[in-house]
Amino acid sequence: MFTYLLTGLVVCGGCGSRFTGTRATGRSNTYRYYTCGGRQRYGTKTCSADRLPAEALEDAVVRSLLAAYADQDLFAAAVAEAHDRAQLGHSRHEGELAALDAELAKVESGIGRYLRAFETGAMPETICGTRVKELGGRATALRTRHQELADEMDEADLTAPTPEKLAVLRERVTEAVKDGSTASVKGLLQALIHEIRVDSRDAIQPIFRVPVGGDHHEDDAVRAPSRSVEVNGLEPSASTLRT
Ligand SMILES: [Zn+2]
Repeated sequence: MFTYLLTGLVVCGGCGSRFTGTRATGRSNTYRYYTCGGRQRYGTKTCSADRLPAEALEDAVVRSLLAAYADQDLFAAAVAEAHDRAQLGHSRHEGELAALDAELAKVESGIGRYLRAFETGAMPETICGTRVKELGGRATALRTRHQELADEMDEADLTAPTPEKLAVLRERVTEAVKDGSTASVKGLLQALIHEIRVDSRDAIQPIFRVPVGGDHHEDDAVRAPSRSVEVNGLEPSASTLRT
């Protein structure tokens, strides 16, 4: 049975395709690789990305993940960057939010006026109904946009994971690898890695995800991080990826 722990996570910097698990049979062994989907489908003229020996890549990525979890500063820096982005969004969005609020107030009072005109018989129902419907649609659009902006500004309350929380994750990955349970290692890697960008065999950049904010039970945090920041991992040593 051939399991590819990094299925769906490896992205080709050359053509943007995902790498897929492939294998090649030698004299006495079958070798697993990750091969760019673009190269696989359209040939090396379309994408010349190296195919990567699967085991070496998986080992390197796990090592890089464990190293990152030992370095809380990496995560603190990523969260600080997310804060900066939220801050920037804040000043950019403040003007738009104020304008939205003002327009929404105008639209709502307009609706009120049409309804009163209809009640007092000052305007025929058909005209009145059409106008109210138009304004109602506009009000809904304004409220939707308002919510979008508010969500974007929400990143400001992210908090970096504590060294203890990282230690727990580190422990879980280490244990799973030691147990040799492919399924649980794969589950953890799929939950904790955002993606692995491959520009060449010598330039591989894993980007890790980390559950942030909220006091989730550790299990929930690992299985379904509701929000995440990207942490640039350390590059796996290229020498291990030579075929
Ligand atoms: Zn490619």
